Amino acid sequence: MNILDGKKVSNDIKNEIAEIVTEMKAKGEKVPHLAAVLVGENGASLTYVNSKVKSCERIGFDSTLVKLDADISEEALLAEIDTLNNNKDIDGFIVQLPLPKHINEEKILLAVHPDKDVDGFHPTNFGKMALDMPSFIPATPYGIIELLERYKVETSGKHCVVIGRSHIVGKPMSILMSRKGYPGDATVTLTHSRTQNLSEITKNADIIISALGVPNFLKGDMVKDGAVIIDVGITRVPDENAPRGYKIVGDVDFQEVALKSSFITPVPGGVGPMTIAMLLKNTLLSRSRHQSN
Ligand code: NAD
Repeated sequence: MNILDGKKVSNDIKNEIAEIVTEMKAKGEKVPHLAAVLVGENGASLTYVNSKVKSCERIGFDSTLVKLDADISEEALLAEIDTLNNNKDIDGFIVQLPLPKHINEEKILLAVHPDKDVDGFHPTNFGKMALDMPSFIPATPYGIIELLERYKVETSGKHCVVIGRSHIVGKPMSILMSRKGYPGDATVTLTHSRTQNLSEITKNADIIISALGVPNFLKGDMVKDGAVIIDVGITRVPDENAPRGYKIVGDVDFQEVALKSSFITPVPGGVGPMTIAMLLKNTLLSRSRHQSN
């Protein structure tokens, strides 16, 4: 069993980007600038946004955190997005999800200009990705692709089973794994909550990408020997012994599944850190696109 070490690879990526930023500075070029919009005080969202901002600082990007009250109107939030769209200094921005119930998430994501949509959630970017055109690939699927590539995991002709059909992980993942070229060329089965006999399907998988958000869902008897396991799940489970009162648990029963797998991502330290690294990579890409325009 080999660990797909997202913590290490994400650090490598951040160091590579930091070197590029140092060169940019030496040439007197403008460095990439990422902004994050945070609405309200959701604990997990605050943690995610803070670590994105901290990562920006570490690698030499400029960053801006736009903190807005939970009761902000949809109209006022749209106006903030418009400001970010038109701010030439900002190369890309994200709107941290989830948003408060009174705000239509779809409307907000549609308002982000596709050229600044470094999360890759806008339909324009999603469509371009599906058509193999240059786009922003959503950070989590992009991180998984990068992990597979850096560990030279074979994907061509393999049966890849994706669990979960969310717009931000499962669905884009199924598109990327079935794309022509490496890492891709896999035969993909996209499964979800209505899938019947899921374990019969996963038992035939060479690669399993699990993104459903149910702790320890994937058990050893659902996996064949030598399978590659990617665990996207992040669930906070109460734990009195943990300093914060909870621990992070993935979708995969690591103890059981690791024994059978050829490669596996741990939780934490697998896909999670890759997501931030790829957001930074998308922001760098956005800067270079703006530069050449
Ligand atoms: P989601 O929560 O929007 O949807 C869950 C999906 O799982 C749905 O498509 C549903 O059909 C499917 N599902 C539910 N029960 C199922 C079952 N019994 N069998 C098969 N499929 C089932 O999905 P999401 O937003 O992709 O999040 C999934 C998990 O990934 C969550 O734990 C989330 O926190 C985590 N996540 C992690 C990262 C990261 O950076 N590591 C990024 C995004 C999401």
